[in-house]
Amino acid sequence: MCGIIGYVGKKSASPILLEGLRRLEYRGYDSAGVAVLDQAKLVVRKKLGKIDEGIARLLKAEPVTGQLGIAHTRWATHGVPSDKNSHPHFDQSQKIAVVHNGVIENYDALKQKLARAGHTFKSDTDTEVLAHLIGDCYEKRRGKPGANGDALTQAVCDALREVIGTYGLAVICADYPNLIVGARRGSPLIIGIGKDEHFVASDANAIVAHTKKVVYLNDYDVATITPDRFDVLNLGTDTATVQISQLEFSQEDAARGKHAHFMLKEIFEQPQTVLNALRGRLDFEGATAKFGGLNMTSAELRGIDRIVIAASGTSWHAALVGEYLIEEFAQLPVEVEFAHEFCYRNCPLEKNTVLLVLSQSGETADTLAALREAKRRGHRALAIVNVVGSTIARESDGGIYMHAGPEIGVASTKAFVSTLAVLSLLAVHLGRMRNLPAKRALEFLRALEALPKQIEAILAQNNSLKKIAKKYAQADDFFFLGRGYTFPIALEGALKLKEISYIHAEGYSAAEMKHGPIALIDSKTPTVFLVPQDAMYDKTMANLAMIRARQGPIIALATEGDKQIKKVANDVIYLPKTLEPLYPILASVPLQLFAYHIAMARGCDVDKPRNLAKSVTVQ
Ligand code: GLU
Repeated sequence: MCGIIGYVGKKSASPILLEGLRRLEYRGYDSAGVAVLDQAKLVVRKKLGKIDEGIARLLKAEPVTGQLGIAHTRWATHGVPSDKNSHPHFDQSQKIAVVHNGVIENYDALKQKLARAGHTFKSDTDTEVLAHLIGDCYEKRRGKPGANGDALTQAVCDALREVIGTYGLAVICADYPNLIVGARRGSPLIIGIGKDEHFVASDANAIVAHTKKVVYLNDYDVATITPDRFDVLNLGTDTATVQISQLEFSQEDAARGKHAHFMLKEIFEQPQTVLNALRGRLDFEGATAKFGGLNMTSAELRGIDRIVIAASGTSWHAALVGEYLIEEFAQLPVEVEFAHEFCYRNCPLEKNTVLLVLSQSGETADTLAALREAKRRGHRALAIVNVVGSTIARESDGGIYMHAGPEIGVASTKAFVSTLAVLSLLAVHLGRMRNLPAKRALEFLRALEALPKQIEAILAQNNSLKKIAKKYAQADDFFFLGRGYTFPIALEGALKLKEISYIHAEGYSAAEMKHGPIALIDSKTPTVFLVPQDAMYDKTMANLAMIRARQGPIIALATEGDKQIKKVANDVIYLPKTLEPLYPILASVPLQLFAYHIAMARGCDVDKPRNLAKSVTVQ
């Protein structure tokens, strides 16, 4: 959600910033802009719209040169997407430029105070208020540098002490041709370390082409960055902990390659990403799964009485599958919460309750808040995340990485499936510490091991899936129905379709449907029915008949070899045979492709769906 990149060094900043913006575009694409120090003057170029049609064209027509600059791609929170609301924003003197990710909650009070002091504002954003506040503090600091360094850093610190809210921030000033000040609270910011050059960025994708050495800033850190050094102080504790980390992925991993879209690339990566999630974790000898980073002893794991899983969006659907898995395998009570609900309602957490959070980016603001809330209440908090070194990864007490590689497509695909794979492993791990028989665990591990090949077989049906998708692409409404383990996948299938094709879609329990929503079924409302050959097969078929009796078109996801389904469904997509708890993984893949092809048939931009952005770093 919003991407920031900054450069200070000996090279021309503008091409580095533009390339960085392209790599960050999945974080927001309402507008984009750059500020570069061009011959001692700060020059800002900013434009509404996606990068290639907006800022890239503007920079071609009106280039800027200079070796210091900051840039931003916006996901609007305050003020409509427009040229004037785009970042960077100037302070009153126009000597300071600011890019910001997050929300300044007390911006209105600050704005009124500044207006009374003579400040005039050009935009409707909270960020411009922050820029003016920094400018105001700078005027007071100028000429009297304090113990901690330059006046700009001092001014940023002074301003941030007045701010309520969240920020990832980069600030430059015409008086300092070699300096970027970066700061974070709640929204991510990293420093990239190069030779005679440094970068700041919201995430590593923006800078991995230039350096693999990074520092993840912590909340309340303020960084002073020049071409040859960087210093970090912490507003809360004064001394900051700085740790240099090595990025484990390359520029190629974060590139689209031969695929038309990142989403399609990521769907097709799933045989490999599931393999990566399982690698080294299947313990056939002990008939269990093993992990390196849970940071809990067997006795502690055995002592857990209850697990609360907190997540948002797609991860929340994964959490529902996790609930079924852990309750079945480990007989441990599990409760699933929307991360934001968990934070703000006083839900009882008994002793020996562990919070488990799920987040691809490891930066989801609601989920991070849930993690902090559980820790504040003295509970252990574990995490399943994809991005190594992310805030949730660092702040959790222990966790499991997905190892899915960068996920750029805004609609999550491979990370969802990897979360399911990891939750499956965790369920066996917890189960084997309780009563799960070795024989059952071994059978499950073997089925897990077979998944990558089975996903390949599903991907090979891409062309026939495309045909089916085209047939239904003009429908206005969809239902997705499943029960048992595939109920959460019905929710996820509907969400995927909504996100990228803007078709209204409802995910529902196949059994619950008859208690109301069936009123909406008619010959123009297709239903995607998940009906694998599991214990509930006959009952699900009876639910399907109810839709059929009301002329609802049916696209069924069924198990290979199921002949009966052909007689009652209009179209059938076959899944390889697996164990019941693993159908969620297999069924997710054709539903992703189904949503993708429908969105394509309707001419939607699947990698940049309207109103959305990857990694929701605001609450
Ligand atoms: N609140 C700021 C705005 O609306 C920043 C949003 C963002 O994180 O992109 O401009």
